[in-house]
Amino acid sequence: MNFRHFTLRSIAIAAAALLGAAALTPPPALASHGQGAASGILNTVTWRVCVSGWIDGQNASHYAIGQVSATEVNASSVHCPGSWNVSSYAASYPDSWYGSTSCVRWSGSRCAEKAVKLNGRTIGTTTQWRKTATHEFGHVAGLGHRSTNSSCMTQGAAPPIVTVFDAHDKSSINANY
Ligand SMILES: [Zn+2]
Repeated sequence: MNFRHFTLRSIAIAAAALLGAAALTPPPALASHGQGAASGILNTVTWRVCVSGWIDGQNASHYAIGQVSATEVNASSVHCPGSWNVSSYAASYPDSWYGSTSCVRWSGSRCAEKAVKLNGRTIGTTTQWRKTATHEFGHVAGLGHRSTNSSCMTQGAAPPIVTVFDAHDKSSINANY
């Protein structure tokens, strides 16, 4: 082939490779997890939530309590220190994840106490705070990840950033109790 042809062909291949890379590279991991999402289902439909830490995180946790309350879960914030079965704490963690949910006390195959962490180092906007908090509360209820734009249970920061549970999420939560 002549040089001109070779160059155009190379550019085309390079452009295709770049497009492929752009499509395959995951977006920043909004609501990805430092400690794993498979932390069981909280063992009661009555959630007493201790909300603390950064004020943006507290506001988002209260928003998430409202979202969970659209299901059969009866969630409310309680004073902490005190007695609770969910804690939601917002701080700056030295990691790249946005939120994490873990079980800190097991009762058989279900979890008796869950700890949610919201990472103020990586979360920026109110929408991100709300999505991350609601997403993590979904994990508290035993939800896994989704790939639909209608649900907050997606991973990644690509728009649209959804801050609510869709009908499928809600029925899944209700089925867990
Ligand atoms: Zn998740």
